[in-house]
Amino acid sequence: MSWSGAVSLQNVALDTAYSLRNLRFPRVTVADSQLSCISDGLVEVDLVIDRSEIKSVKPAGSGAVLTTDIDMAHAMAWPCPIDCHTHLDKGQVWPRSKNTDGSFEGASGVAYRESMGPAFTADVDTRVDFSLRTAYSHGTRAIRSHVDGNSINFSQVFDQLTELSNTWADRIILQLCPFSDVSDSIEWLSFLATRAAKQPYGVLSSFVYPTPRLDAQLDRVVQLADAKGLALDFHADEILNQESHCLRAIARSVLRNKFDGPVLVGHCCALSVQPAEEVSKTLDLVAAAGIGIVALPLCNAYLMDRHHAQTPRHRGTAPVHEARSRGIEVAIGSDNVRDASYW
Ligand SMILES: [Zn+2]
Repeated sequence: MSWSGAVSLQNVALDTAYSLRNLRFPRVTVADSQLSCISDGLVEVDLVIDRSEIKSVKPAGSGAVLTTDIDMAHAMAWPCPIDCHTHLDKGQVWPRSKNTDGSFEGASGVAYRESMGPAFTADVDTRVDFSLRTAYSHGTRAIRSHVDGNSINFSQVFDQLTELSNTWADRIILQLCPFSDVSDSIEWLSFLATRAAKQPYGVLSSFVYPTPRLDAQLDRVVQLADAKGLALDFHADEILNQESHCLRAIARSVLRNKFDGPVLVGHCCALSVQPAEEVSKTLDLVAAAGIGIVALPLCNAYLMDRHHAQTPRHRGTAPVHEARSRGIEVAIGSDNVRDASYW
């Protein structure tokens, strides 16, 4: 069968092998190094797909033409996005919880008050479902969301989101991470870690900022994750302070404790205002520790360097090129949506 005009892959039966010809991919998304670029970093290929699996990738014009065949006419295809840093529990509340000065401090205060109000738990599943529907309509396949570890309603919110993740499992993988504060008590950290361990992909997340006992506090979090077989996810250095070295402290803790699970660190804004030699020193440790970095450019450009009647100059973007040049895995995430941290 060959279709001309409007093409819909939805017409292809799930148990049918089919060929797609003349399809364009960004070169970086295709492992086959034999394919040469046609232009703008694109390769053009013929594919054979059987039961949702790509069975063959050949240069355009040389692939098999099966009975069910579609000429893609040079259309582009991208892998489904994966958003590895979000806060779905807090999102979609702007109409009732505005951040009037747009600052990080303003966002923290408004978010805290919002999380304590009855509306927060009353509509959390509606708000998260809306976020999942909008992400799905843009092709997103997997999302990691932190879930605030607020002792008043954490369990209620986490249970509701767990139920939603089950409902959405065949469309979006929703990975839920209990969100701790690095200064939390060991009892509360243990409780959150236990809840994380019951998830299909256990991740404990922690907000980290300079404290007098930071190394010891980080060691507690790392050792707890190790004991429960969890991955780790940190918010670190979300501040434009040259003296903030939380990412470096996390890397040292991971190395000190010989933690070998996945570790992701988000934000890393302070590095954008630190001298190059300080950034190098930190990134060398991050590379040695096998830590990945996620930059959150939209949210941080919104929050960083906000002062009354002064144009922001520093946007707090993590040093992604410097990280990549050391082989550090780098991602870009959304962070907050339609709440006090990002409107
Ligand atoms: Zn975040």
